Amino acid sequence: MNQKRHTSPQRRREHHKPLATSAPRTSAASFDSAQIFVHSGREKSLLRRHPWVFSGAVERIQGAPASGDTVAVCDAAGGFLAWAGYSAQSQITAKVWSWHAEQKIDADFFRKKITQALSMRRDLSFARDSNGMRLIHGESDGLPGLIVDQYDNVIVMQLGSACAERWRDTCADILQELCNPACIYERSDSDSRALEGLPERNGVLRGTLPGETFVTEHGLKFAVDVAHGQKTGFYLDQRDNRALTGTLAQDKDVLNCFCYTGGFSLYALRGGAKSVLSIDASEEALQLARRNVELNHLDSSRAEWQCADVFAALRKMRDQNKKFDLIILDPPKFAPTAAFAEKAARGYKDINLLGLKLLRPGGLLFTYSCSGGISDDLFQKIIAGAALDAGINAHIVNKLHAAADHPVLLSFPEGAYLKGLALRVAG
Ligand code: SAH
Repeated sequence: MNQKRHTSPQRRREHHKPLATSAPRTSAASFDSAQIFVHSGREKSLLRRHPWVFSGAVERIQGAPASGDTVAVCDAAGGFLAWAGYSAQSQITAKVWSWHAEQKIDADFFRKKITQALSMRRDLSFARDSNGMRLIHGESDGLPGLIVDQYDNVIVMQLGSACAERWRDTCADILQELCNPACIYERSDSDSRALEGLPERNGVLRGTLPGETFVTEHGLKFAVDVAHGQKTGFYLDQRDNRALTGTLAQDKDVLNCFCYTGGFSLYALRGGAKSVLSIDASEEALQLARRNVELNHLDSSRAEWQCADVFAALRKMRDQNKKFDLIILDPPKFAPTAAFAEKAARGYKDINLLGLKLLRPGGLLFTYSCSGGISDDLFQKIIAGAALDAGINAHIVNKLHAAADHPVLLSFPEGAYLKGLALRVAG
């Protein structure tokens, strides 16, 4: 019955109906700026409001835009599709700012977008429990390439594309005006910048960086190294998942792999874990993790920290026949894009197979992937393969994702980069 409904002609027509842009479609000749014409047929994803124009979709460019310039994206017949930021070097030639021909891309446009992003987050319930929040999540907030995280009174900006780079000072001014932080710090040192031909940048943009920055979430306090920590200093996306782990840790032997500054470990300790072994390859991260345990007056005698490669450490523990009741695997991005998926899949399978083998009967595995190039489906298949090879039966008890301050725009599913599974192995 359902199937019939889904395949009815009317439904199919609706499915392909473009979202309303400004009608009637403006012709390209009416724009002063440079124009990008896409090949016939390649306008489809834009009509579905996917915000990227890949280099392969570009038929020709009229004018000589520089990286960061706003260009009009047009279909093959010259009809207006979107205003976008141009990037000469990236595989993604343009990223969309607006779908409306009458929209000017100027400071007022950014003020409106940033205001919208802030007001959406103000309504989130955890906003009352945490002073750490992702304020702007790139494409998902209509601002491609712009990531903004807030840690108490410090705002960290990360500009990952040439189009965002152009508006750096405008956005910093608006954030200063709307949020009035003590400091706006720029951490534009992600790998994606090299693909856009942009230099790395790391430093104060506005105000003064306080001696120390702390973020409090669900009553736990974490020191955040804004200048030297990974990404923008802390992994806000795992907030809810850390809290979930904490509620399940009572009396358990916990293993936290890729622990960074101790996020999951602190929740487990507070949740009454019997022991928590945390492993990370970064000594600086572990130093901060130990400090975080002290900051929260947690019992450090139940915590052990190991600076090691997780792949090797898991093998060693398997050979020693070590066992745990709850294991967290939260590795770094193995596959930034789909091109890396195969190699990444081997890495995920390896650690998950070993992790499953280290669990006692009835034990819990919280396993994550933050790779944009690995879909939910593929991730689940990899984990199923790992369980099969380990000879272990397991159930999915929860599907996990990033916290609500990392929203996913329906027309941009790539925004759902973080996926996780909570598994219970057979008792
Ligand atoms: N779960 C953490 C975030 C993990 S980020 C939190 O909630 O805050 C990924 C971590 O993996 C980083 O700290 C990085 O130093 C570490 N890492 C990367 N490769 C590693 C490896 N091969 N072995 C151990 N740690 C590694």
